[in-house]
Amino acid sequence: MTVTNTLFADAMTRLDDALKHVSISADAIERLKFPKASLTVSIPVRMDDGSLQVFQGYRVRYDDTRGPTKGGVRFHPSVNLDEVQSLAFWMTFKCAALNIPFGGAKGGITVDPKALSKLELERLSRAYIDAIADFIGPNVDIPAPDVYTTPTIMGWMMDQYSIIRRQLSPDVVTGKPIALGGSLGRDTATATGAFYTIETLLPKLKLNRHETTVAIQGFGNAGSYLARLLFDAGYRVVAVSDSKGGIYDAKGLDIPSVQKFRALHHHIEAVYCEGTVCNITNGQTSITNEELLELDVDILIPAALENQIVAANADRVRAKYVFEVANGPVSSAADRILNARGVLVVPDILVNAGGVTVSYFEWLQNRGGLYWSLEDVDRRLKRNTIDETNKIWQVASDLKIPMRTAAYVHALRRLGEALEAKGTRNYFVG
Ligand code: GLU
Repeated sequence: MTVTNTLFADAMTRLDDALKHVSISADAIERLKFPKASLTVSIPVRMDDGSLQVFQGYRVRYDDTRGPTKGGVRFHPSVNLDEVQSLAFWMTFKCAALNIPFGGAKGGITVDPKALSKLELERLSRAYIDAIADFIGPNVDIPAPDVYTTPTIMGWMMDQYSIIRRQLSPDVVTGKPIALGGSLGRDTATATGAFYTIETLLPKLKLNRHETTVAIQGFGNAGSYLARLLFDAGYRVVAVSDSKGGIYDAKGLDIPSVQKFRALHHHIEAVYCEGTVCNITNGQTSITNEELLELDVDILIPAALENQIVAANADRVRAKYVFEVANGPVSSAADRILNARGVLVVPDILVNAGGVTVSYFEWLQNRGGLYWSLEDVDRRLKRNTIDETNKIWQVASDLKIPMRTAAYVHALRRLGEALEAKGTRNYFVG
């Protein structure tokens, strides 16, 4: 395999590691090294001042052997094809690891959505669907939210697709507003799935909630809600951050107050020394995102973007356990350093799979024309997350391999079986 310095090449090393521990046909391996199809589009958008701006957009369908491809759409200034392809690769293994009957895909637009007005954002979202409409579909490829995309944006995308097809197609996009066919529990699903993974592993790691300290990098949809779930369950969340910086308090932060002040001031640093919260949690200090990653805590949760823990800072990570809520936050070089130091990394394709799990439930509800209760969604999410977490833990202990490699082995067994069911070399020559 060509090794270049790209995110995708780094992602592929995870496949190489897992292939050492699983026997699947050479055909299946060959197939999994390449995306099924990649689309790059230019998206012209009329801006509020009358000017025309062209944005770059992408959609990559990595593999659809186990079902229609599935994955979010990211709006971020650093989006590029290498990143979208890597994210689509991870979605493929995430769906297989959790036994969700989908393949993997991802999309994105290179844009700073915070710099756009709401009307510009709507025109951009609809124009993106205009550009990729022939590439997606309820039985083909189903977009969803990712970094900086919201239920409102998903509603626009579903509506635009329905306009193009001249038929209401709620099952073409997940993560929609409830009123447009969204599922109860989808907004909190990534955090909830991560919480169940942590809770399932806690006794195996011989930890107890009340003595467990946690630092969370990223206070978006997943990070903020997970902070709250952990806080409510009695964990000591000592540090949180957003893209502008974070706060730390060795005694533990009052997460409901942090959430309240962040909603008011739009960034976490504003919480620091905003009278009330300073008073509630005396001893708070302001920290940078880099400092947060190096705190002496039990559990570190990167919940922002990829490549946050890399060869340059992996030596300084003092946490004993890393739970990846972001996609790809630990590079493969950092993984090796952390493994050698005995730091257990629980991988993204397991920890953040709650999002796609409930997306699958949303798609099922749309196709069945019915709504599930929040209790139903939660019960099914909980059962599947606990079952698959336990299976991956078992693979790791049986084969004496890191959790990440075990998650890939577990996924590869399912992917390999599906790819081989189409016929292998032995079948054709034998
Ligand atoms: N963007 C989320 C992820 O990375 C969710 C994808 C989906 O729901 O399809 O897993």
